[in-house]
Amino acid sequence: MPATNAKPAAKAAAKQAPKSIESKLAKLGLRTDMDLVLHLPMRYEDETQIVPIREASLRGGHVSQVEGVVTKNEIAYKPRRQLLVTIADETSDIQLRFMNFYGSQVKQLAEGTRVRARSEVRHGFFGAEMVHPVYKIVNEGAPLPNALTPVYPAGEGLSQTILRRAIADAMKRVDWTDTVPRAVREKLNLAEFQPAVRLLHYPPPDVDEHALTERSHPAWTRVKFDELLAQQLSLKRAQQARREKGAPVLGAVGALSASFLEALPFKLTNAQQRVVEEIRRDLREDYPMQRLLQGDVGSGKTVVAALAAAQAIDSGYQAALMAPTEILAEQHFRKIAAWMEPLGVKVAWLTGSLKKKEKTAASEMTESGEAQLVIGTHALIQDTVQFAKLGLVLVDEQHRFGVGQRLTLRNKGSDGLVPHQLMMSATPIPRTLAMTYYADLEVSVIDELPPGRTPIVTRAIDQNRRDEVIERVHAAAQEGRQAYWVCPLIEESEALQLQTATETYETLAQALPDLVVGLVHGRMKPAEKQVIMDAFSAGEVHVLVATTVIEVGVDVPNASLMVIEHAERFGLSQLHQLRGRVGRGSAASVCLLLYQSPLGPVAKQRLMTMRETTDGFEIARRDLEIRGPGEFLGARQSGQAMLRFANLETDQWIVEQARDVAAWLLESDRPEAEAIVDAHLQRWLGGREEFLKV
Ligand code: ADP
Ligand code: MG
Repeated sequence: MPATNAKPAAKAAAKQAPKSIESKLAKLGLRTDMDLVLHLPMRYEDETQIVPIREASLRGGHVSQVEGVVTKNEIAYKPRRQLLVTIADETSDIQLRFMNFYGSQVKQLAEGTRVRARSEVRHGFFGAEMVHPVYKIVNEGAPLPNALTPVYPAGEGLSQTILRRAIADAMKRVDWTDTVPRAVREKLNLAEFQPAVRLLHYPPPDVDEHALTERSHPAWTRVKFDELLAQQLSLKRAQQARREKGAPVLGAVGALSASFLEALPFKLTNAQQRVVEEIRRDLREDYPMQRLLQGDVGSGKTVVAALAAAQAIDSGYQAALMAPTEILAEQHFRKIAAWMEPLGVKVAWLTGSLKKKEKTAASEMTESGEAQLVIGTHALIQDTVQFAKLGLVLVDEQHRFGVGQRLTLRNKGSDGLVPHQLMMSATPIPRTLAMTYYADLEVSVIDELPPGRTPIVTRAIDQNRRDEVIERVHAAAQEGRQAYWVCPLIEESEALQLQTATETYETLAQALPDLVVGLVHGRMKPAEKQVIMDAFSAGEVHVLVATTVIEVGVDVPNASLMVIEHAERFGLSQLHQLRGRVGRGSAASVCLLLYQSPLGPVAKQRLMTMRETTDGFEIARRDLEIRGPGEFLGARQSGQAMLRFANLETDQWIVEQARDVAAWLLESDRPEAEAIVDAHLQRWLGGREEFLKV
């Protein structure tokens, strides 16, 4: 019997206020009994001991539980109305302070009452005190709990007591069938489901407290395994479903591909060749490719994408390339058009900023099939844009797009066929993440830079040495090189960011009268931006002052100096992207990270990482350490909510086990396997599986 989740939760608490509790539980995502059972403690409190008041006071700053008799109870009015209760034991006394209180509490805490109170001990003006402690009235010698007390993630209006009761009731009702087959449990030495969950809710007195808190206890391992298994199963099913869809077979690696390669001014690196092969193989299949092309900034992803497009065109289909910004899209358009047009390929350009007439012309070329390759921004996915025969979708900087946007482009196929999809990203996804959130994608990695690049030297420099930095910019320009000067990120205010950029531009223009200084920022019209970018590409502008609009993709090989102001405000991957704008030519490049002291610990760590490595994968790994996975997931964040217990960093070994078991279950021909998979997914994901289908 598969585990069912159908019974309504919160029946237990229903007596008091059925609607409100149920809806509050629902807000926490607790809709079914199994949801409640899997609502596990986020931590545990130790109420098993009472500390003498004197000791608790000496220990100050720690959470302690004390017990004493009320010796004083008064309402004070300075600085504001508050209830002050003093309790004493044989060793000392301590004040309990309540800023908000009810009349009934004043009576309840009358002199002579025995109180057990638990809170952090602070040292106030009048000695040791607890502010708003958790307390209860007890009789002398009242027994202490002999186990740790679970503390649940709670929402507004949901007390621990209500949650505890709702969970306890749900525990009695759920189907406890173990969804992981015994053979698997034995092989992996996994705890059984019910005892594991029970232990986490009600830890026995002799439990290994450390392992419980650190979540390394076997009971936690079991729960994490289940969670990860559900995720893997769900992703793999999505992958299977994709394979059942039809895609155009792009079988021809023909004349265009050959002459394109021949015309390239360079030879592909081994890594590029390898991924080109991987993509070629996928495109020949009759189900849609969904491949992520990962490669550090400057590793040469564009040419790989262009080769994939050539294969689609050779096979009589259209290809579309979508980029997240106008600057980047335009750059792709120029570069790829320069490669392809001499070979007779018709390339169309489609962005939001085009004049109506131009846009209509581009759309018509796309719809008639005259345009074999269409390059642009989000404009590509508008309803009005129809493709005659779309075979391949290329998405650059895929993490910048929402899932919905990528899907729309994918739905623009014809004859009921789904186009192949190649997504590019320079934000490397650490292995564990790739294995979990991206388990339904194939991944190709370009792990080699084109030859002849000299490594970028990175320095962190205090903001007050700005003059020296300006001098370096000057020197670089005199050697015929160009520089970027990136203005500080001001997250709170775009207007302020703009103002800073303009000021920086003016200061630099003044300090460097013999150089041409340019300014580019997000508020400029695309055409204005393009004029500056063109001038910079052509070497007519020596220093380009920019906001983060240049973060992605910009490729000007002659630029060899990157100055980032207030580098401490940027995240690691952003710094890495920005730095990647230099080091693209053969000249030795330098990245100067200007910072404002004093630096906080996280910022210090980031700048140190930047100085120590230029390897995008290493940077991503450290970023994951500093920040957690959220940032990498982009639009997939919806799926992140699914991992409540497993920690992708410390639990990689469990991820691997779960992945293997998922593969084994799905490949198994035994009819039970499918029932197992269904039951497990139902238990862990309920109706939430949809998140992962895209
Ligand atoms: P990214 O992977 O960051 O998108 P690009 O595709 O913009 O990188 O490539 C960076 C630069 O390297 C471009 O100027 C490109 O023409 C050049 N390039 C790409 N592949 C090679 C190669 N195999 N040999 C030499 N230069 C290359
Ligand atoms: Mg690129």
